[in-house]
Amino acid sequence: MPRVRHAPALIALGDTPLTALTGCGPKVAEKLAARGLLTLQDLWLQLPRQYEDRTKIVPIRALQAGVAAQVEGRVEAVERGFRYRPTLRVAIGDDSRATLVLRFFHFRAAQVAQFRPGVRLRCYGTPRPGQNGLEIVHPSYRVIEDDEVGVLGSSLDPVYPAIEGVGPAMLRRLIGLALDRLPSDEELELLPDALLARLGLPSLRDALLTVHRPPADADVPGLLAGTHPAQRRLVIEELLAHHLSLRRQRLAQQAHAAHALVDTALAERLQCALPFALTGAQQRVFDELLDDLRRPRPMLRLVQGDVGSGKTVVAALAATLAVAHGRQAALMAPTELLAEQHLNNLRAWLEPLGVRVAWLAGKVTGRARAQVLDAVARGEAQVVVGTHALMQEGVVFHDLALALVDEQHRFGVHQRLALRDKGAGGGVGPDAVVPHQLVMTATPIPRTLAMAAYADLDVSVIDELPPGRTPVQTVALGAERRPELVERIRRACAEGRQAYWVCTLIEEAEDDGKSTGGLRIEAQAAQTTYEQLSSQLPGLRVGLVHGRLKPAEKQAVMREFKDGNIDLLVATTVIEVGVDVPNASLMIIENAERLGLAQLHQLRGRVGRGSAVSSCVLLYQPPLSQMARERLETMRETNDGFVIAEKDLELRGPGELLGTRQTGIAGFRLADLGRDAELLPQVHEIAERLLERAPQVAERLVERWIGGAMRYAQA
Ligand code: ADP
Ligand code: MG
Repeated sequence: MPRVRHAPALIALGDTPLTALTGCGPKVAEKLAARGLLTLQDLWLQLPRQYEDRTKIVPIRALQAGVAAQVEGRVEAVERGFRYRPTLRVAIGDDSRATLVLRFFHFRAAQVAQFRPGVRLRCYGTPRPGQNGLEIVHPSYRVIEDDEVGVLGSSLDPVYPAIEGVGPAMLRRLIGLALDRLPSDEELELLPDALLARLGLPSLRDALLTVHRPPADADVPGLLAGTHPAQRRLVIEELLAHHLSLRRQRLAQQAHAAHALVDTALAERLQCALPFALTGAQQRVFDELLDDLRRPRPMLRLVQGDVGSGKTVVAALAATLAVAHGRQAALMAPTELLAEQHLNNLRAWLEPLGVRVAWLAGKVTGRARAQVLDAVARGEAQVVVGTHALMQEGVVFHDLALALVDEQHRFGVHQRLALRDKGAGGGVGPDAVVPHQLVMTATPIPRTLAMAAYADLDVSVIDELPPGRTPVQTVALGAERRPELVERIRRACAEGRQAYWVCTLIEEAEDDGKSTGGLRIEAQAAQTTYEQLSSQLPGLRVGLVHGRLKPAEKQAVMREFKDGNIDLLVATTVIEVGVDVPNASLMIIENAERLGLAQLHQLRGRVGRGSAVSSCVLLYQPPLSQMARERLETMRETNDGFVIAEKDLELRGPGELLGTRQTGIAGFRLADLGRDAELLPQVHEIAERLLERAPQVAERLVERWIGGAMRYAQA
């Protein structure tokens, strides 16, 4: 890197507030601000994640499931129905003599009147397998007149992430106005020329103009695939900014002091008292923790371990070191049920050794809460287990030396830091003594992804299950085999076992722009299934849990199931995380083809936790897309979370949305780790050099790409 740019003193233009744009009144500005979009620069970087290719018409016969396309055809039939909610189906046909169904869940009378047989429609959307061939849910469409036939757009149309309260046309217009004010390369560019030349990538200015306004002669397949040099240029800068921000956090962390924890006497006593021996992997990871803990610098470690690999006991062993030094440890879990499970385990393991374990969750209130807070503040509570209630303001630790966080991806980085700030003195200045931190996740992440997601953490892996587990037997069955399963549940429960029946989203609800829609339909599907199964299985105690229940109601049902008072639990995917009911040995997942691999694996992890042979039945609606078929096959072939994660990465094409949820990485604007992982080593190299030689440039990159998102996250 021969020449490093120096940050210009002022970046006035990019910082211009959006109200400076014609047509952006205070109301619109407020909606944009709610998404972290405050300045012109924020709009420049509000990048299209997709394009609609309106430069050509695809014959209906040539449509492929999962591949967005523009089609044109005449309305052949219109049908209104009611399945879970009002539905409008419009069949169109074209010269390829094939039929495509357009399906709408929201529609007005005027719209219905528009769809007269014979009317010519031009639509755009992603076809999916439906009941009778392909269908598109909520396509964008318009009625076209005869003289418009064959008149097509000349370039790709960018599609921007939807923003509540700001229509797509308005958003497009504002982004256009912001782009009109894009400054010169000299003012905008932060990456060294030599680097760009070496990588053969355009300047930031050129790249932004290309992705927002693809020229008519642009490389269309490249843009659609997200591999155009302009996109790669932006992806590199975005990945760089994310990496720099994580590195910066790590450096800041390491500048703090921590109490060295070296006394392993209590850990040895616990290990002797356990009813089992640690697996090799558990022992190795515990050794890695010991090596971190004995330093006067805060540990920052992520323990990855597949579901059931035994992370809790490793956390308990680490906690004993804090206790042995007369200090405190805290263990935080994302749900009350999980936290309670940890509490029971830790009490069973630690109290016989004389360790005082306290419990702090949202439902601990009044006098009980005051007592716990007092015990925590005086140091009488040596290990404190709880939910995010642990991070609330009134909670003051006497001397927190170790913070343990379970199921990390459910918490953001910020929450993790909040628990750290509960450390001795509560200070965050450079001289502050902060707790060691250990985060645990059951979501295995391929190495490359872990590097991107957790650049601020060291990573340990428990890659072995305790002995004696029998792998879950998995089969995939077409939905028509459903009746056989009722019998199978009856048999399993007659043997004293328990079963889960998981209902997943049946219709495409993402497209309606209201995130609660999915939850509602899912809950409704679960309700219907619950009623059906209850009447088909009169001898069984059937329970129901879904996302629309209040947390307390959910907990109550889960507890009944855990206590064995419910035989069959009909549930939505809310049961995905961490719940341990070893007696449950059968799981049926409906519409399994709709779920990503990571989620299927998490769900399946709810069975196979005891010694009985467990099974998982993946029910699917034929026909399966190629991608869905491969996912189900992977699930049948392996129980290994890491193999599944690798396969997931391989399968995930651009546009598949698993990424964010799976890794807990704050949503990228453009980068897609499935597609762009190969860029990471290069990005890391550039990052190290920038941190060394041009820290202010690093600073500006982080502010440019992440500043807005952080404001959003903190809002
Ligand atoms: P996870 O890693 O999914 O959080 P848990 O910590 O809940 O797994 O452990 C799953 C079960 O395995 C628990 O019942 C735990 O007591 C048990 N377990 C943990 N380690 C071992 C071991 N080395 N041998 C036998 N059983 C173990
Ligand atoms: Mg766990």
